[in-house]
Order: sequence, then structure tokens, then C-alpha cells
Amino acid sequence: MSLSAQEILQKYFGYDEFRPQQEEIINEVISGNDVLVLMPTGGGKSVCFQIPALLRDGVCIVISPLISLMKDQVDALKTNGIAAAFLNSTQSFEEQQKILESCYKKEIALLYVSPERLISDISSITSMTNPSMFVIDEAHCISAWGHDFRPEYRHIGLLRQRFSHLPFIALTATADKVTRKDIIKQLHLKDPKIFVSSFDRKNLSLDVRIGIKTKQKLEEITTFIKQNNSLCGIIYCLSRTTCEEVAYELKIKGINAGYYHAGMNARERERVQENFINDDLMVVCATIAFGMGIDKSNVRWVIHYNLPKSMESYYQEIGRAGRDGLPAATILYYNYSDLTMLNRFAAQSGQADINLEKLKRIQHYAEADICRRKILLSYFSETLEKNCGNCDVCRHPRKHFDGTLLIQKALSAMARMREKEGATMVIDVLRGSLRTDLREAGYDKLKTHGIGSDLCTSDWQRYLMQMLNLGIIEMAYDENFALKSTAYGKEILFGKKKAELIVLPPLIKPAKTSLTT
Ligand code: ADP
Ligand code: ZN
Repeated sequence: MSLSAQEILQKYFGYDEFRPQQEEIINEVISGNDVLVLMPTGGGKSVCFQIPALLRDGVCIVISPLISLMKDQVDALKTNGIAAAFLNSTQSFEEQQKILESCYKKEIALLYVSPERLISDISSITSMTNPSMFVIDEAHCISAWGHDFRPEYRHIGLLRQRFSHLPFIALTATADKVTRKDIIKQLHLKDPKIFVSSFDRKNLSLDVRIGIKTKQKLEEITTFIKQNNSLCGIIYCLSRTTCEEVAYELKIKGINAGYYHAGMNARERERVQENFINDDLMVVCATIAFGMGIDKSNVRWVIHYNLPKSMESYYQEIGRAGRDGLPAATILYYNYSDLTMLNRFAAQSGQADINLEKLKRIQHYAEADICRRKILLSYFSETLEKNCGNCDVCRHPRKHFDGTLLIQKALSAMARMREKEGATMVIDVLRGSLRTDLREAGYDKLKTHGIGSDLCTSDWQRYLMQMLNLGIIEMAYDENFALKSTAYGKEILFGKKKAELIVLPPLIKPAKTSLTT
């Protein structure tokens, strides 16, 4: 008896219809092709490989970095009547052996493996299991350009050489354009079809509050929580001590709050998590460790007590609010002291250049004067042409002007430098600088040399940032941060579209946005 993908969806998962793209992805995999899937958390990535796993002969090997999640996923599959198992270092040798034997006897359709476990003994796993396909979950971990690079992922690329005839499926919820390209390269994906779902979560309101002092910040947060009495939420903090302090302050004010961070033992953490899931705890002050893999649909708000380290982290963390699709609020507090600390972390990290650049992007997001959703989506290579109406900038709009000409000047300068140069050179050419390396490159001979000398360097920087945020240009940080025009930018350059820019506000501006509920 063989079922169709649609019948499996109904019989094993209990859903009548596929969500957008799921069916196309499944068909692609069933035909044996490689795919790269970008879908936000909660979008429904799992069935995209679980259904083909049931339709192909052999064991589908799922490489997943989070041991804690593995068990939940396998349990969920078993509940649905699907034969699944996992292998990781927490199991005894005998347990692991038993699982491999079941695979050998064709009793298992999906086998979840941690990358460490797989690498330590690729041959015994693959010889026992007769793999039908490979799934690389959280595929951004393979790329040093991603936000969560894990060196052990690199070895997965070797699998491709041994199993060149099997489909490889790479899945991720967060990967910018450069990371996508790198995932394909590192995994040696063969002419993969790339599926990108919209990353827009319209039900999340976006608010940024700049330069609010600790005391006022706590007062605002308390008022906000009390106004939203019986609604639960998460407050993300940069340090463990801050988590504890904020939780303490809130408790004094009579709010049912707790904290969660990696310095607590597993039992304590589990208790906090369970209380939160069961609505016994309304507020959790947490470091980034919290929320990975908890599937709570009624989180009504997420507050960032400090600036997150990247757009990817920010997107993931606010994404834990409003999973049920109902309105949810997100507020980001941003102080320069956060920036100092994050800069230090980034500079000391193994990949200082990339992490500093990622920090700069979230800083610009926080400081920006254009629709925040446009910026967030453009970071993930999605262009939103209309303002969202559900962020603080849209609610308190800045003044605009027709920026078409200014944009064309910048784009044409970039084009004449073959889109090989970063912001500093682009600005120097626009402003007509005659510095040595500029002349050596022959840029002083360009028609665009000096056409933007009416603006100072810092204004140009801020306009370029707006263009980046609007999805008019993009930055290739794998090519020395060269600025390039997007498809949308080309339309503006060739006069097919007009675009508005924001009148630059004074550099230091008082916070004036108000808290939304
Ligand atoms: P992701 O891995 O992308 O974060 P999941 O695969 O865990 O998301 O899916 C998120 C939720 O959506 C799950 O509860 C899942 O059962 C549900 N889901 C997936 N596909 C469908 C569908 N076609 N119809 C209805 N619900 C679905
Ligand atoms: Zn907006």
C-alpha cells in the first residue's frame, strides 16, 4: 500500500491542507533533488522532510544540533505513529547499538543524530542504516557567516561526497543571503531549489526605546506588565545578574516573575520552563538560552532589556511572541552602554569582523528612522514596499523627501566601481576625494566622482544606511563589505521607480516613542 503525500499529511499529522510551499518542497525531495528551505520558526519545516522520509526507502537521517529538542521531536513522531529514534552522546553504548539494529531491520523511518555523534562514527551509522536522504536542520550552523557557527557541522559536507545520489535537505529559520550561499557551498548541495517563505510576522508590533535609564526602564516595564495583567511574556537580558535583578524588582512590585539562565542547574531551569508553559509563571527574565524549542503559543509580549547581538537573534527572540497569530507586542530597549559591552564581546569572539558587523546592523536598526519591519525584512532579503503601520516609526512618522536623485547618484557610483567597493570608498568617490588609493584605482576619472560633494561624510553614511535598510542596496560581507544594488535598487537607478528617504534628524535625539500595549 502506498499513500500520497496528501494522505500522509492527513493520516499521520491530522492536517487537511499543506501550508504554502510545503507540497512543492516535498515533491522536490521525493524526486531526489537537493533543497534549501528558509522558513520562520513555527512555519512548518518538519513535515517537509518527515513526509518524504515515509515515502522513500531506507532511513532518513536528520542532523540536529539540539539534543534537548531531539527527544521532543522523536516523541511527537511516535505519538503520530511514525517509527523514529535518536542517537546522541547521552545514551549508553548498548542503547545506541539497539537503535542501530532496529534501523538495520528496517524498523525505523527517521533517525535523529547530533552532529558530534555522526562525525565520531560515520561509517557504522551509515552502514547500519541504509540512508534514504539526509536532513540538515539549523543549517546556518555550518556557515561562519551565520549567527551560530558550529565547527562540527563542517564535517557534514563530507557526507555529500559519499552519498552523492541521495537528496540533501538543508533547513533554517535564519540565514541572510551570504549565509545561504555559504550553506550551499559547504554542504556541496547540487543545484538546489531554494524555498524562501515570507519572514513577515504581521501580528508582532515593533517598538524601540532609546537611551532610557535603568530606573525609568523598570518603571515603564512594570506599568506595561500591569496594564497587560494576565498576559505572559519574556524579558531578554544580556547578563545573568541582570536577569536576576530585573526579576527581583518585578517581584517586589507584585508581578509573578522568575528568571532563567545558563548558570542555573538543569532542574531549576526545567522548573521555570514548565511553570511558564503552564501559565503558573507569567514573566521570565532570561538570557538567550531561554525559549529554544519551547512551543508556547500564547506568549503575548517580548521585551529586550538590552540590545541583542544581531538581527538574527532579535528576530528569533521576538518570534517567540504571538505564535498563535494574535497580536503581540515587542519592545527593544537600547542604551549606548549595551553597545559598549556587546562590542567588547564581539571583538573578543573568534570571529570579530563578522560579529562586529552584525552588531552594527542591529544598532542601525535600533537607531533607524524608517519603518522597522522594512529593515527587519530587508535584512532577510525580503522587500516590503509599503510601511507596516505597526511599528513605532510608522506610528510617529519622520519627515520624508523624494530621495530618487540622491539614491541614483550613490547607485551609479557603485555601478561604475563594479560594485566592488565598501561604504568608505563609495562615499569618498561621491564626495570627490583625491586620496592615493582612490586615484590609483582610477576612480577620480569616473563621471560620478564628486557628484555628492554637497553632503558631508556622516550624512552620506546615514543615507547609505537608509538605502540598506530599505532594501535598495545590500552589503556583501563575504566580499570585503562591498555595496551592491538590489533588484529594487536597479529599478530606481533606471528611473522605473521613485523612492523616499527620511530627512536626517539631528544625531543625538531624545527618545520620544511611547510604549504600546
Ligand atoms: P518549524 O520546524 O518550522 O519551526 P514545525 O514543523 O514545528 O515548525 O511546525 C510548526 C507547527 O505547525 C506544528 O505545530 C505543526 O504541527 C504545524 N503544522 C505544520 N504543517 C501544518 C499544516 N500543513 N497544517 C496545519 N498545521 C501545520
Ligand atoms: Zn512600520
